[in-house]
Amino acid sequence: MKVRVDPERCQGHTLCAMAAPDVFELSEIDGHSTAVNEDVPADQEDRVREAAKSCPEQAITIF
Ligand code: SF4
Repeated sequence: MKVRVDPERCQGHTLCAMAAPDVFELSEIDGHSTAVNEDVPADQEDRVREAAKSCPEQAITIF
């Protein structure tokens, strides 16, 4: 499973980083999120799915 954050959509709500703190990293400059690593570790998959659901901007793509 892979994950990507669309930088155009992300508005820095931080919900993804709360759901999966080991996977999403927030910029210290603008608070926007990026995936630390596109490949999601197996034990993080449920958290990443939760994060994708909770993102108000639908900025998180799982593929
Ligand atoms: S929840 Fe969505 S909008 Fe908020 S920081 Fe994460 S990716 Fe960006």
